[in-house]
Amino acid sequence: RAYNFNAGPAAIPLEVLQQAQEQFVDYHGAGMSIMEMSHRSALYEDVNNEAQSLMRELFGIPNNYKVMFLQGGASTQFAMLPMNLLREGQPAAYVHTGAWADKAIKEAKLIGETVIAASTADDKFMRVPSLSEIVVPANASYLHLTSNETIGGTQFQEFPDTGNIPLIADMSSDILSRPVDVSKFGVIYAGAQKNLGPSGVTVVIMREDLAQGSPKSIPAMFRYETHAKAKSLYNTPPSFSVYMVSLVLKWIKAKGGVAQMEQYNRDKTKLIYDAIDGSGGFYKGCADAKSRSVMNITFRLGSEELENQFVKESEQQGFVGLKGHRDVGGLRASTYNAVPLESCQALAQFMKDFQQRNG
Ligand code: PLP
Repeated sequence: RAYNFNAGPAAIPLEVLQQAQEQFVDYHGAGMSIMEMSHRSALYEDVNNEAQSLMRELFGIPNNYKVMFLQGGASTQFAMLPMNLLREGQPAAYVHTGAWADKAIKEAKLIGETVIAASTADDKFMRVPSLSEIVVPANASYLHLTSNETIGGTQFQEFPDTGNIPLIADMSSDILSRPVDVSKFGVIYAGAQKNLGPSGVTVVIMREDLAQGSPKSIPAMFRYETHAKAKSLYNTPPSFSVYMVSLVLKWIKAKGGVAQMEQYNRDKTKLIYDAIDGSGGFYKGCADAKSRSVMNITFRLGSEELENQFVKESEQQGFVGLKGHRDVGGLRASTYNAVPLESCQALAQFMKDFQQRNG
């Protein structure tokens, strides 16, 4: 197996892939694969229900929240959220922390009035704002933030208290990587392809009152109410992806749950940040130390030439996905839940060896 540091789609636990392989052709004696089965069948309904209840259990989702499995990726949520929740005369407030927040803001602007509650553009998005920097208008429809900026490599360590104004978080790149007080949020959403399984399904966790009363002009597929009422079976769901998510959730549970995941992730990430910080400036972390992400580690070398050489040599040694995003440049290691500690140990060692050869 490669040392997979891809940003997304990303590593899936080996045990999960093996289990899916075993069940691939004949799911529980049905004589067919799960992907060939009716989504109205009892077997698939079990998968759908189990994925939803495991999500509730592992993430501590209160009973007054809906868990939905939708299609169209997190990018569709950038549009669906304002379509359903942005009210006339009540601007949608956004925290601007980089590339993904920017996309969410652009979509909301197409739907209605937006305001920037805080922005770290002046710091090239290499940090997240402190809570005191976030200013939300009292009449805001909601406040949206990106809990982890996958490209820049920054992550919120704490979340603002928004009172009656719903707090919405794009957790695409850090959902289930650490415990979160879900009751602080109106909506949490995430594309599955980083911490939850393969692409094709998007998890939306929404407080019940917000999933009701969308403007009547919105077509059925874009209304949360439709999916909430139908338990995510309004139309044909991405059944194979939901099944894979259910296996990943079982894997997280078997590992001890989300708090254990957080510790594991911190142990993994420390190896790489230590290699950066202990390099005497040979490697330079991109994000401000206090805003550093536990999921996406961004760093640079002295020249682009050296960075290209790093990527090339790393690939020769079995590492995948270390080239940084083109917007930021440099290098990025994505260390999601499924990335094994051994991969991070190998990367830290490779970084030290590379420095010895080129420092
Ligand atoms: N939000 C964040 C933080 C992401 O990292 C990504 C994808 O990488 C997206 C949104 C977009 O997700 P999707 O490709 O599922 O639309």
